Amino acid sequence: MATLRFKALDEISRRELIETKLSDQKISGYFGADVFDRETMRQYIAKDAYESLCNAIDEGRRIDRKFANQIAQGMKTWAMERGATHYSHWFQPLNDSTAEKHDAFFEPMQGGGSFETFKGELLVQQEPDASSFPNGGLRNTFEARGYSAWDPSSPAFIIDKTLCIPSIFIAYTGEALDFKTPLLKSLQVVCKAAEDVCQYFDKDVKKVNVTLGWEQEYFLVDEALFLARPDLMQTGRTLMGHIAAKDQQLDDHYFGAIPSRVLEYMKEFEEQAYRLGIPIKTRHNEVAPNQFECAPMFEEANIAVDHNTLLMTVMRKVALKHKLRVLFHEKPFAGVNGSGKHCNWSMMTDTGVNLLAPGKTPKNNIQFLTFFVNAIKAAHDYGTLFMASIATQSNSHRLGAHEAPPAVMSVFAGSTLSDMLDSIEERVSDKKMTPDEKTDIKLDIGKIPDILLDNTDRNRTSPFAFTGNRFEFRATGSSHTCAAPLTVINTAIAEELIQFKKEVDALIDKGVKKDEAILQVIRKYIIASKKIRFEGNGYSQAWLDEAGKRGLESIGSIPEAFTVFNRPQYKELLTKHGVYSESEICARYEINLEILIKKIQIESRVLADMAANHIVPTAIKYQNVLIQNVQGLKDIMPDEYMELASEEIRAITKIAKYVKSIREHNRQMIDARKKYNNTENIIERANGYWDVVRPIMSVIRQDIDKLELIVDDELWPLPKYREMMSIN
Ligand code: ADP
Ligand code: MG
Repeated sequence: MATLRFKALDEISRRELIETKLSDQKISGYFGADVFDRETMRQYIAKDAYESLCNAIDEGRRIDRKFANQIAQGMKTWAMERGATHYSHWFQPLNDSTAEKHDAFFEPMQGGGSFETFKGELLVQQEPDASSFPNGGLRNTFEARGYSAWDPSSPAFIIDKTLCIPSIFIAYTGEALDFKTPLLKSLQVVCKAAEDVCQYFDKDVKKVNVTLGWEQEYFLVDEALFLARPDLMQTGRTLMGHIAAKDQQLDDHYFGAIPSRVLEYMKEFEEQAYRLGIPIKTRHNEVAPNQFECAPMFEEANIAVDHNTLLMTVMRKVALKHKLRVLFHEKPFAGVNGSGKHCNWSMMTDTGVNLLAPGKTPKNNIQFLTFFVNAIKAAHDYGTLFMASIATQSNSHRLGAHEAPPAVMSVFAGSTLSDMLDSIEERVSDKKMTPDEKTDIKLDIGKIPDILLDNTDRNRTSPFAFTGNRFEFRATGSSHTCAAPLTVINTAIAEELIQFKKEVDALIDKGVKKDEAILQVIRKYIIASKKIRFEGNGYSQAWLDEAGKRGLESIGSIPEAFTVFNRPQYKELLTKHGVYSESEICARYEINLEILIKKIQIESRVLADMAANHIVPTAIKYQNVLIQNVQGLKDIMPDEYMELASEEIRAITKIAKYVKSIREHNRQMIDARKKYNNTENIIERANGYWDVVRPIMSVIRQDIDKLELIVDDELWPLPKYREMMSIN
């Protein structure tokens, strides 16, 4: 009998609910308790140092070195009062994880004794031994000095008795080796561009922030089953497994009652999230069995990105306590929905106005339309880059399937706003408008909020959908960082806003009135970006055909998607605004290829091992049972009855056929790996893994899944889909 699987099933049947003891306090009573936020800073830092820090946070100014010591001192006191013994710079290297290197506050003294210390210079900069992070050749190993530098705009926090200091991570030579640095640069560019455009409408606006609200999807699987699946353990997804008879066909999981075990888990990670200042608002079941989602209240984008990465770490840890494993992989199970991470994007002024929310007056609404149309134009001009920004090996299983964003970029505006854009296109002209025409159109624009209220149409098949007061970018993978797409979206929108302002100013200089000039450029942008707008079903073949006719690009493969960043027009966009340097783009291209190769290599090795050492021996064992049986029948039955054993003989033959095919393909796959491992050129190597190794993996999987249907259930060594997809 397949011991591990049945042990696991037995263990699960005896699981007891692990209850979460929640604090007696209201959530607002402990929200942010483990965060060094402004309130706490004020208490622990002297006034002038505090003000210098606030300036750094609000205006991106440098902190005077002389204050760094005082700030570090304050942080240390606060952290030690909460039991912290260590500190660590906390950053996001280019491999979808977070990195930390803990150092103790404790320091022994010469001649005996010891004390706790934390100096300003250690707060500002730390030099982890960083030679093993992906660097795309930017940093020679013998000169392995990447360093992390404090990002004061994201508050420090305590986790597991360690004071964590959000940081950027850069090579000694100055290039960014993380996701945060380019994100911060892109935020600076887009915020400045938006602030400038806002001046047309409200001179009081001094600061604009990008707001991000992410929605995190994930799967849960029982720990015992997880441990019995080498593929889940090592690759985060199942490389084999026949689909269950019942999975999501009945739509009975989506928004259903949350299973008690899962609820206890959610309660616990949410409580930790609240202590860390992560404002989780919603939790619910998702479409696939065992798939769930959580989403916070939106926040300033840099903080929201940090909170998402931090929460993923917390969720992983808390799952262990509940004897669960959380799967952030985009497609852990074939045949059911995968997981994404929707990024809801908008901008907010320091006067409290959401720039993508229709307002109450025509003036407010022209401002809204300005930002709305510029975002659409950004998606039109740089849509391929948007899609390239979320292209990863694991997300490739989702893209283009009928569950996630289609491979072609489009924007959903909703029928009300679509009509409004059409009407502006028709009624505004480059000629001077009469006062009546102007009043009419402004009146219509003024009506937007009323009509939007009843206009609840939601299009779930659009990769970039306007959802009332924000754009929702749905293509990001669940395991990926929001920073990757956000960096591109911010920069593209910044570019549009800057051009927009130039064009409006040029018209004003020619004597056109400001409001007319704005409407004229809006109209121009509406026309220029028309082909990206699509209101229908983004999954349909009809749309793919239509998109082809419109000349919209669909990215073929992931290695190809990586090359999009190297196209001159996109390179120009990113370097012009200082978001990436030329060498950073090159390095990232190499890193992306490298990660793709390694991930497929790992999957392929795990698959080969499981096929040869788990599946084939099991199949042969069962085949022998059948052979023995047929042999026995032959011994006791007259020849003319042997026809009755024909199905059994067929099963024996089928097993032999699948086993042979698995073995042959395994050999082919290993040979292909060998060949491409020895290919010097990294692009050819990546293409080889993508075009040759990957398809062989699917053939092997198909054969294994067929065997799963033939072989005696008692012998099958791996937990089956139906077992992994129900949590009790
Ligand atoms: P849905 O599933 O309908 O998209 P959710 O409630 O799951 O809705 O998620 C909506 C997300 O959008 C939340 O994270 C929310 O904070 C975010 N959001 C709402 N308004 C804004 C905004 N102005 N800017 C950015 N994100 C926003
Ligand atoms: Mg959503």
